[in-house]
Amino acid sequence: MNGVDLIEDTLMSEAPMATKRLQDQVAIVTGASRGIGRAIARQLAAEGAIVGVNYASSSAAADAVVAEIADMGGQAIAIQADVSQSDQVDALFSTVMEQWSRVDILVNNAGITRDTLLLRMKPEDWHAVIDLNLSGVFLCTKAASKIMLKQRSGRIINISSVVGEMGNAGQANYSAAKAGVIGFTKAVAKELAPRGITVNAVAPGFIATDMTHGIAADDILKFIPLGRYGEPDEVAGLVQFLASSPAAAYITGQVINVDGGMVMA
Ligand code: NAP
Repeated sequence: MNGVDLIEDTLMSEAPMATKRLQDQVAIVTGASRGIGRAIARQLAAEGAIVGVNYASSSAAADAVVAEIADMGGQAIAIQADVSQSDQVDALFSTVMEQWSRVDILVNNAGITRDTLLLRMKPEDWHAVIDLNLSGVFLCTKAASKIMLKQRSGRIINISSVVGEMGNAGQANYSAAKAGVIGFTKAVAKELAPRGITVNAVAPGFIATDMTHGIAADDILKFIPLGRYGEPDEVAGLVQFLASSPAAAYITGQVINVDGGMVMA
């Protein structure tokens, strides 16, 4: 070995192992079998988090996300639960606590649409969307906060939407739920801040997933300054940052848009 090799060898052996930003933190991502939730689960796992991949009915898709994370060298389990149901939310959190004894990150991502104009909207269309997109966020946040308050740390990230800020014809139920998520985020951020728990909302614009598949692109693209749909990974990147410590430790109660410029306050 010559002198240069010796120096390089010594530097390499003394170089600290690169620590991942979320190493060994336990995360629950609701609705992580597809779309934005899948991208969030993968990105949290890529930074070292252990992920509970929640889903409602797509068991094979959720198993595929768990397998993808394992292939990356990460750790995850799939957990079925309808997060609009209080008993199923309790079971989801019990499963994670039995397995890993803590919850550091909750991403309230699960969501559905039942789009139609107000006069055609049936009470069941209204309730289905409010029950999952708003009440589900309440149920999961309450369950997570019980654990995080004891830990005196935690990150809660709620996936809202630009339509919760600006409204959208044909989405009165969805817009109301997503606006509700924003108010909920700010209230709970204030309640939990004294214990070092941050609560933020991410408001995506139009992201290419099953949810937006089939919506006429031309009508929407003219409202997007960047001129394209977003990708799930572009939302997941922000969620990963908001979950990171200490990088995002001083951000709470915020609504951050990932929307190609659709909403500019
Ligand atoms: P998506 O592709 O339709 O995926 C929805 C996910 O939610 C699936 O994993 C689904 O699980 C899960 N889910 C549905 N009902 C559930 C329930 N009752 N309990 C637990 N999980 C349930 O949707 P996405 O486009 O990724 O949207 C993810 C989030 O981003 C939603 O909150 C949505 O409102 C919001 N968002 C999306 C956009 C967009 O343009 N795509 C824009 C703004 C906001 P199964 O696979 O088992 O059904």
